[in-house]
Amino acid sequence: MKLNPLQNDRAAGVLVAMAAGDALGAGYEFGAPLPDSADVTMKGGGPFGFAPAEWTDDTSMAIPIAEALLDSASDAGASSPAALTMVVRAWSSWAAEAKDVGAQTSSVITAARRLAAASGREVQAEDFTAAAADFHARTGRSAGNGSLMRTAPLALAYLDREPSELMTAAGVLSALTHADPDAQEACGLWCVAIRHAVLTGQLDVRAGLPLLSAERASVWLERIDVAERSRPRDFTRNGWVVEAFQGAWSAIHHAGRSAVGPAHLRAALEEAVRGGRDTDTVAAIAGGLLGAAYGYTAVPFEWRQRLHGWPGLRARDLMVLGMELGRAEGLLPLCWPRAERHDYSMWGRTDVLARHPHDDGVWLGGVGSLQRVAKLGIDAVVSLCRLGTRDVPGVAPEDHATFWVVDSAVEGDNAHAAFVLGEAAAAVERYRAEGKTVLLHCVRAESRTPTVAALYGARLSQISPLEALEDVRRVLPSARPNPLFMQVLAEAETITDTAAGGATRAGAQ
Ligand SMILES: [Mg+2]
Repeated sequence: MKLNPLQNDRAAGVLVAMAAGDALGAGYEFGAPLPDSADVTMKGGGPFGFAPAEWTDDTSMAIPIAEALLDSASDAGASSPAALTMVVRAWSSWAAEAKDVGAQTSSVITAARRLAAASGREVQAEDFTAAAADFHARTGRSAGNGSLMRTAPLALAYLDREPSELMTAAGVLSALTHADPDAQEACGLWCVAIRHAVLTGQLDVRAGLPLLSAERASVWLERIDVAERSRPRDFTRNGWVVEAFQGAWSAIHHAGRSAVGPAHLRAALEEAVRGGRDTDTVAAIAGGLLGAAYGYTAVPFEWRQRLHGWPGLRARDLMVLGMELGRAEGLLPLCWPRAERHDYSMWGRTDVLARHPHDDGVWLGGVGSLQRVAKLGIDAVVSLCRLGTRDVPGVAPEDHATFWVVDSAVEGDNAHAAFVLGEAAAAVERYRAEGKTVLLHCVRAESRTPTVAALYGARLSQISPLEALEDVRRVLPSARPNPLFMQVLAEAETITDTAAGGATRAGAQ
């Protein structure tokens, strides 16, 4: 489907924010609820010993769904037996090496393999569906949260289809391991909400209710109402799909009372983790919907910098997967973000390079200056323009920060411009605190680079961003931030005394 730039950003955000929530919660899994004042960080650890910023089974099981959906987009459709068989085979491979397969999922995988072995063939989707149905029939309860936690990619494959088709497909995908109607309906409702959020930017968890029977819609409406009157910590049985759903929505709803935009995304995922117990799953569920509403650009750099996990992917890979799924037809190999090289040959001079007027350890430049990274001893790069997959500078992946920001003052071209520009300045600050020499660049260092350089200089020198821009202009005489970025600089506050907790506006000094 043809997406506008903001919808594209939101499609790209679904899997990244989901994985960020998952990795954020990993270090707190099965813990008691935390007080509101507790910091929540990408600390890793937890009962399964994850690395900091490593995602868990939630995202690892979602990735095969995303890949199978892409593969099948052009032919039989998202919930075709062939696509589902691709998914279950990838899950089987993952389960063989995973640290943390959920109990119900693990039991279904084992039983499905046994069914396939008895028939003398490789495992297929129908083996999983049969094993899951048997599990449900034997135990009478198969409503763990394991299908809801991985369902988000499906929504991206249905942006241009009817929500009712998405609801049905979500049930089929759930029933591969979780046949209980509660699990199937939870997946359908959450997927319809994600689809709605990508298309409109609106958070509406009730969007799918009219697709259920009147009786089931009223059951879910009551559950949603309860979630909105509660906090995530009130859902003490969040391993159950219903309470995981309620905990995730409760986190989003509660955090939305005091935060908007990217701040809402962050606050809601922290709130989900503070709710305790199945922290990674509740935050992963919430993350899929929050990423759909606010986009890739709203995910804090601090969270995506080291985000990684099975099967050896990083945040950028999830961003690309989300974009590809959203467009259905896939991405063109010669265009960003798939292209090996991004052609800036028509842009004139791109090799401009100067030292930051307030910090010798920061270089400001155009995209051509990437050639000089090794020679100048630069060990961290902050990119404000698109790069090809082979244009990436020779620094460690976590030392290359990339931001989506278009040099445009047109509304709708940039999501969260002030937030993204501030995040880029914070990335420079972060690398400098680690003692790294930094290159901050866009294409010609005329608008984006001077804007971020001014925000960074203002923080460093405790002057106003507009004063800092004047200093930047002395080293980059052609610096001309566009009117939107000038407005961002004018409105930016400079925190001058954060250590003492006394914030002042630099302009008022
Ligand atoms: Mg998990």
